[in-house]
Amino acid sequence: MTQHLSQRITSMSTSATLAMAAKAKELRTQGKDIISLSLGEPDFNILDPIKDAAKQAIDDNYSSYSPVDGYEELKRAIIDKFKNDNYLNYKSNQIVVSTGAKQSLANVAMVMLDRGDEVILPAPYWVSYNDIVKLAEGVPIVVPTSIESDFKITPSQLEAAITPRTKMLWFSSPCNPSGSVYSEDELYALVQILKKYPNIFIVSDEIYEHINFRGNHVSIAAFDEMFDRTITVNGVSKAFAMTGWRIGFIGAPEWVAKACTKFQGQITSGANSIAQRATISALQTPISQIQFMIDEFRKRRDIIVALLREIDGFKLNVPEGAFYVFPDISDFFGRNLKGTIINNASDFALFLLENANVATVSGDAFGSPNCIRISYSASEKTIREAIFRIKEVL
Ligand code: PMP
Ligand code: GLU
Repeated sequence: MTQHLSQRITSMSTSATLAMAAKAKELRTQGKDIISLSLGEPDFNILDPIKDAAKQAIDDNYSSYSPVDGYEELKRAIIDKFKNDNYLNYKSNQIVVSTGAKQSLANVAMVMLDRGDEVILPAPYWVSYNDIVKLAEGVPIVVPTSIESDFKITPSQLEAAITPRTKMLWFSSPCNPSGSVYSEDELYALVQILKKYPNIFIVSDEIYEHINFRGNHVSIAAFDEMFDRTITVNGVSKAFAMTGWRIGFIGAPEWVAKACTKFQGQITSGANSIAQRATISALQTPISQIQFMIDEFRKRRDIIVALLREIDGFKLNVPEGAFYVFPDISDFFGRNLKGTIINNASDFALFLLENANVATVSGDAFGSPNCIRISYSASEKTIREAIFRIKEVL
């Protein structure tokens, strides 16, 4: 039988973060001593009250289909979270709970984009934005930034990228992969441009909100005139170390939320019932109880930045959030390392994997081909060993 896959899937890239993590795992099973700094997932255990809530949900027989857009009690907890943390006043019909923030993003693209609609993606962008937009037949308009601007887009760059076809701007702050955090003033400056173009919508991915060493997270939807044009995306994967539980959510204009619910109702139905009950407990957890994770990430950030700065050829910004460093390693391009010519960031990441046994992710996947991403969601000992190996091999 002839194998035929749709053009839709053949033109899609495999998620580079997941691919590198799988490759590291495979090499480990072959007996190689690989340190994987490829995947972004917190290496902490879930807090006990959240686990207890999940166990209780099983005992309470939360085993039927949940409402497509999420349990009302969970939506209440999300509304409170948005109100208390972000000064955003959503109503219940503006909230949709999904199977991870990844699905939230995919829902938004599928319900808002028509063929040819342009989506501005400041680069580096999170790995899946590009393919999600393309899946929805949108056109990613990648706006490069560099270490000189702390990997942040300027108002003039934003304005220069706008065309009559621009439908949306997608960005994350704190940013995966650069760790950059937009200050209130920087967001305000972008908002002044956006106000001139009232037909552009904003997807604000705030999943790293709490992993912010600057301490003051600002939601773009909280600025005047932005609330009705912004889809605020968040979830429990990062702050509550619940990556495998797969719960994400949006706060959005009612018509967008309604469309996402309709779409989700044909694709996945409501998100996992037990995980939703556990998420109520997560969202009610005082941030002081997860502060130890944030402090630990900050400590590791300081260590990894200091260690990488000792290596010639690594240029670094100081990330202010998330748990990644994103060094510019273009100094190595054209060089011969142990018989391998390094032409690009993918060659460099492969070189590190094969010669230092350290898995990282090439910046290509994030739209920044001069960089690699190194996740520091690993113990201090592991980080020190990994950077020692990289230094040795270079
Ligand atoms: N956005 C960003 C910026 C991320 O790093 C991630 C991590 N996977 C997601 C969205 C998706 O998160 P999840 O699907 O686990 O909720
Ligand atoms: N967000 C994480 C990362 O960027 C998890 C992997 C993924 O969902 O692609 O590594």
